[in-house]
Amino acid sequence: MDLENFIRDIKDFPKEGIVFKDITPLLKDAEALKNTKEALLELLQGQKIDKIVGIESRGFFFATLLAQELNAGFIPVRKPGKLPYDRISESYELEYGTDALEMHADAIQKGDRVLIHDDVLATGGTAEAVCKLVERLGGEIVQCNFLIELGFLNGRERLPGKDVKALLTY
Ligand code: 5GP
Repeated sequence: MDLENFIRDIKDFPKEGIVFKDITPLLKDAEALKNTKEALLELLQGQKIDKIVGIESRGFFFATLLAQELNAGFIPVRKPGKLPYDRISESYELEYGTDALEMHADAIQKGDRVLIHDDVLATGGTAEAVCKLVERLGGEIVQCNFLIELGFLNGRERLPGKDVKALLTY
């Protein structure tokens, strides 16, 4: 399967000058969905995982599918104010200003083997903040995987020492 055929470029979304990679054509195709899940599993090469951390909101789709396949738990990382229980928070820089991401304080046990998943790795600020959240709780990050890496933004440079993998690189 050529995953690329299921990714749609949307010009000037969410703002002018940005070409947004839309993954909804992939999500709505039953076979592409299944093949993508299997391709992500292959990236792990059989490594044991205890928890899969999915990043709001497009990271949730495959993170939960992978959690089922790997017999692992699913942990949501969300924007501020969305999680109901005790939280830890990490802020990160945006083009203009800062934003933050939160995780429940009891989400990860010390020594848990963690997979971090999101749809797109762009500048790496989001994934970097999530790595910090996981490591603050004592999790061991086995891999950070993505459907798409925008290689020209050098996001992986913000994840030094991590096993960073993507199914598609632009
Ligand atoms: P970063 O922090 O690496 O710059 O941005 C990554 C985050 O922004 C991810 O959570 C991802 O969902 C979102 N993102 C950035 N660019 C795109 C894009 O072109 N398509 C999609 N689907 N998400 C994007």
